[in-house]
Amino acid sequence: MFSKFKHHIAQRRKIAAVGFSLAGLMVAGSMRGWLEPLELGLLDQFFVLQSRSPTVNKRVLVVAIDERDIANVGQWPISDKTLSQLVRNIHEHEPASIGLDLYRNFLIEPGSEELIETFESIPNVIGAERVLEGGVASHKTLAELDRAASIDLVVDDDGRVRRGLLSVISPEGEVRRGLAATLALNYLSEQDIHLETVDGDTGGGALRLGKSTITRFERNDGGYVNADSGGYQVLMNYRDRYTQFESVSLTAVLNGELTDEMVHGRIVLVGSTAISLNDLFYTPTERDSLVAGVYVHAHLLSQLLGAALDGQPFLRTVPTYLEWLWVVCWIAISIVASRSGLYSASIKTHPPTWQLIVRLASLGIGLYGSGYCLFLAGWWLPTVLPLVSMFSTVGLGIAYRNQQLQNLAAYDELTQVANRRYFDQYLEQLLRTNKRLSLILCDVDSFKAFNDLYGHPAGDRCLHQVAQALKLAVRDADLVARYGGEEFVVVLPDTDEKIAASVAVRIQVQIRKLAIAHEGSAASPFVTLSGGYVSLPKGKLIMPQVLVGYADKALYEAKLSGRNRLLPSDWPASNDSVEYEVAA
Ligand code: GH3
Ligand code: MG
Ligand code: MG
Repeated sequence: MFSKFKHHIAQRRKIAAVGFSLAGLMVAGSMRGWLEPLELGLLDQFFVLQSRSPTVNKRVLVVAIDERDIANVGQWPISDKTLSQLVRNIHEHEPASIGLDLYRNFLIEPGSEELIETFESIPNVIGAERVLEGGVASHKTLAELDRAASIDLVVDDDGRVRRGLLSVISPEGEVRRGLAATLALNYLSEQDIHLETVDGDTGGGALRLGKSTITRFERNDGGYVNADSGGYQVLMNYRDRYTQFESVSLTAVLNGELTDEMVHGRIVLVGSTAISLNDLFYTPTERDSLVAGVYVHAHLLSQLLGAALDGQPFLRTVPTYLEWLWVVCWIAISIVASRSGLYSASIKTHPPTWQLIVRLASLGIGLYGSGYCLFLAGWWLPTVLPLVSMFSTVGLGIAYRNQQLQNLAAYDELTQVANRRYFDQYLEQLLRTNKRLSLILCDVDSFKAFNDLYGHPAGDRCLHQVAQALKLAVRDADLVARYGGEEFVVVLPDTDEKIAASVAVRIQVQIRKLAIAHEGSAASPFVTLSGGYVSLPKGKLIMPQVLVGYADKALYEAKLSGRNRLLPSDWPASNDSVEYEVAA
């Protein structure tokens, strides 16, 4: 019997756990879009935690054009002559290639002829074009030589660049390679490393590049929700800060200050860092300072090279179903950790809320730590989503549990009707509305004798049956409560004396239907009730205990006059007192 009960409880717990987790998942799922900024913010934090003291990147050199340089050359955009000079000065030291992160869609005399000649004679110069948002063409000569690459960037709503564009699709539907990708692939092809498709890739767009596999960003990857995944994007993995790149100024290059050591074999990126030119972005590692576009391209470039040559992958994500599995696991852990709070059946063993919060907080820290460890291993899994799921699951569970405890506090376990406590609250509230109502108080006749004759357990069963019979006799809107011992009270809102009288009859009928034998009763061979009822007219003020007192008085009268009857109270006066007696 006991083991069956335990099994029943275990069964109910399982159902509850599934219910809580589903509810938590639904809450979290519906919030997913709102959580995106938090997920991205947390990812940024991981980047900051991870970023080491910069080691100088030996593969990329940045030629930065700042305000001072613009003042020195005296014009912006710099003339074709100056640009030509710049390219030649770099070329002299044999760089692997030169990337120009500068717009040059029209000629700027003087020196246009010279620049064309420079571009024609130096083959490893790659120019910039903008493909998206209206587009800006590249220098005509570079376009003709097929040496123009896109410098479009993907910027998140918060102004941060977290994704790199390896290629973009032009409005005409043409695939245009990005500047960083073009420079990296040229560099790598020298070492016989090429982009290869991955065997067994099922349309996910995974590519093999040297020592790493590159996976294409999808719109819901990691913490993103419905992001624009146009072109071929990758999640950037900022290992270091932008200060890792060695840089020289335009002025220094024009003054011939470059050395072979600085340039030889490296990829040189030329771009503006001048604030007035506004080619500035936020990155995860630079929380408060803006980073020039040329450094963003340098990052993507160095990450591509790092992936291919050093096996440092881009940030990877897992398929959506695994992300949800990860969330479900955390929900399961949170349910196990807080089960005593969710299931304990008594108020005494119910742990205080703060204890649950402490447990959940430690779980939250564990989740954060796991998320960070995975991140260090190169994986980005949503972290805020499981956190919110955990909290909503346990929160909903506790709310449900509290509701149950409250119900327990209002319920009479034996008779399965409301208890005295609930009745007292209910009547007090109802009386405050000043509406009319009736109240019936009844008591089982000769119940002591019933107990003596049939035993206490039989008495308990009898009380349960009587309570249920009372419920059958009234409407759903009426309240049946155990007033105490073998006494019950029925409250009939919005009910006048006449209807109360008919309900009294219905009660007698239901009790008689039970036909519980009672040999020791003074009134009948079956269990019977005596009762009194009272009706309160609309707008009449009365204290609850006074109203019950009138019903009790009528009940007393009923007992005195022979039991097995429900009598009306003589209050308010001038009622036609009718005795309702049902023959046994
Ligand atoms: P009367 O007809 O005048 O109401 O007589 P009575 O015997 O019913 O009244 P009395 O108040 O003397 O006895 C009530 C009895 O109800 C005594 C008590 O043992 C019994 N009783 C009260 N609560 C319970 C209960 O939960 N279970 C059982 N089995 N008996 C109960
Ligand atoms: Mg009694
Ligand atoms: Mg009694």
